[in-house]
Amino acid sequence: MTADLDLLLLDYASGALQEGPALAVATKLALDPAARADMRLLEATGGALFDGVEPEAVSESLLDATLDRLDGESTRFALALPPDDEARRLLPAPLWRYAPRGLDGLQWKQWGKHVREATLPLADRRYRATLLHIKGGHGVMRHTHRGTEYTVVLAGSFHDEDGRYGTGAMQICDGTIRHRPIADEGQDCLCLGVLDAPMHFTGLLGRFINPKVRF
Ligand code: ZN
Repeated sequence: MTADLDLLLLDYASGALQEGPALAVATKLALDPAARADMRLLEATGGALFDGVEPEAVSESLLDATLDRLDGESTRFALALPPDDEARRLLPAPLWRYAPRGLDGLQWKQWGKHVREATLPLADRRYRATLLHIKGGHGVMRHTHRGTEYTVVLAGSFHDEDGRYGTGAMQICDGTIRHRPIADEGQDCLCLGVLDAPMHFTGLLGRFINPKVRF
């Protein structure tokens, strides 16, 4: 999982990531200062290796170029002002432009009593980005993936078969993982989810629900 995140950070720093996963990484970085420090180190070291230069010889200019790219990426996702106090409190800056009328201005779809989801307007239709709100103690149906799922916790925390994820954590899942994310008791959990293919629900209800899932 950590190796996946490192590779993702390198791709992000090089500008190679598409809008969907780049938004997930930008959101993760906005919430996690340690990840921001990791990425600066990774990029400086990685750039030196690719150039055939010893890491010790990483130049000021390479570091400056890296930081310029990072600044460019941050402005890519942070052109908007927060629409209201709730959005400022719950959404990191990279998400503001995707919720111009705040959380209440999004079109929420209810999944059962305890889970609701709102799609964010990505320009790149190859990905789907959503905000997922799960009441404490409740969860999403067990599922696997036909592609890759990037989840970043914006508030609260959840757990699944793989571990526990607190605010600022990022989980990367693919078809090798079958899980049932459940929000921890005591606080609702708000997540950003980015997918490049629909979830595939498992179990008895899956055969009824999967045909209805829109991407
Ligand atoms: Zn999943």
